[in-house]
Amino acid sequence: MGTNANLYAILVAGFPQDHAKIAIETPDRRYSWSDIDEMSGRIANLLQALDLPAGARVAVQVEKSPEALMLYLATVRAGLVYLPLNTAYKAGEVEYFLTDAEPSVVVCDSKNQQWISELAAKTDTPHVYTLDADGSGSFAVAAASQDTAFSTVQNQPDDLAAILYTSGTTGRSKGAMLTHSNLSSNAQVLHSYWGWRADDVLLHMLPIFHVHGLFVASHGALLAGAKMIWLPRLSIDQALQYLPQSTVMMGVPTYYVRLLADERFTRDVCKSMRLFISGSAPLLDETFNAFRERTGHTILERYGMSETIMLTSNPYHAADGERRGGTVGKALPGVSVRVVDDEGQALAVGEIGNVQVRGPNVFSGYWRMPEKTREEFTADGWFRTGDVGKFGGEGIPDDFVSIVGRSKDLIISGGFNVYPKEIELVIDALPGVNESAVIGVPHPDFGEAVVAVVVPRDGQTLDADAMLISLKASLANFKVPKHIYFVDHLVRNTMGKVQKNVLRDRYKSV
Ligand code: AMP
Repeated sequence: MGTNANLYAILVAGFPQDHAKIAIETPDRRYSWSDIDEMSGRIANLLQALDLPAGARVAVQVEKSPEALMLYLATVRAGLVYLPLNTAYKAGEVEYFLTDAEPSVVVCDSKNQQWISELAAKTDTPHVYTLDADGSGSFAVAAASQDTAFSTVQNQPDDLAAILYTSGTTGRSKGAMLTHSNLSSNAQVLHSYWGWRADDVLLHMLPIFHVHGLFVASHGALLAGAKMIWLPRLSIDQALQYLPQSTVMMGVPTYYVRLLADERFTRDVCKSMRLFISGSAPLLDETFNAFRERTGHTILERYGMSETIMLTSNPYHAADGERRGGTVGKALPGVSVRVVDDEGQALAVGEIGNVQVRGPNVFSGYWRMPEKTREEFTADGWFRTGDVGKFGGEGIPDDFVSIVGRSKDLIISGGFNVYPKEIELVIDALPGVNESAVIGVPHPDFGEAVVAVVVPRDGQTLDADAMLISLKASLANFKVPKHIYFVDHLVRNTMGKVQKNVLRDRYKSV
């Protein structure tokens, strides 16, 4: 038997020698490294006793808890495929995932048991269990009588470990199939790129139904044998309480905005921290700068997606360069990134185009969508991310990538391409503006018209006409918004992404 490519076998090799040390701490519970091994062993035994076919899916829609993490690890250990579902999904959405993924097991919160059981019956999902935020439920009861010893299933690198349904703001949600080696290779690269250490303490406040919290954060700490402070969600009070004991924090940009909005968040609170990481959505320059001023720390922004896990990162080690705000850094070791035009021709540094990627981290395709998979890969094997970006730019090293938007957010007005991010940056720099979102709405003459949705700074009243005059001075006419709408805040999803589809819908006929 060769080495085992099972992700759990690789993570476990990073656990500390002393298994009695604390691995996970919540405000009221503590779990050692032995607990992780034994609890995931019990659950893996339970799953194995169900006698499921190889590659069977385990769909999980539960509140975040250490037990939910054990369930993930156990599924991988047992050689089965983990399918996390956003806790916000309602019956119609869950039905789609059960029908599409045909899981053998679904684990849900007991408060949802009734409707999920009905859906499971309707979709022929054989096993339904409950697991609650406090670790109780029928799943915990069934696992309790199982043996703690479990010999991790032998897997090949290309065996499937997880399916992540993409948030897909339009069209059918697609299941990105990630293999054991997609996950382990990315975890290993990030381990050294971000300088993970055994004495790190990760403040984990992200949801675990998404690539960011489930893979990037959890794998990082597990592989380093580092402790995690495990909180169900962002709470500023708890963050302020635990930051002084932490060394690493990962968050979506909103987390940093909210920390900065609290004056108790000071340099002193961050004195034991070595690294703040941001991703999943663009970090505003203003947040990047304000954070540095307040704490003395430079947020490290990185970029990735469900289909690829992490792709690029700003440097951690000085030898890799300096962190630059407004960029997502350089391709990670082993990852290739290129920017091409619509014909697939490579573009020069500074030119905006489609971001395509290749590497051991790139997924194996969309679940049961061979056509869609073929469309999203080029003939020479590059994955089309759907993001629009560029290398370099003014004062930025040539190998640094900046993301300008999603290709579906590209506005074509009167035949001209308009990249929302470019205009948002100009608007955000105007006095009294907190942030903005630029979208395209149907227009009889131009096809699409550029429209800006602007959030003023607290208590300020802005004058749309005066703003338009300033914008006209610095932007080509076709880029200047036809209208500016003012709102209190921009609608965002759980991962902090501005929901431009909602905005497009709201402003399409005003
Ligand atoms: P998801 O699959 O839900 O993780 O969404 C992935 C998408 O989030 C990417 O394709 C990007 O559009 C966006 N994204 C992730 N990280 C960043 C970042 N640091 N800056 C800008 N956009 C990002």
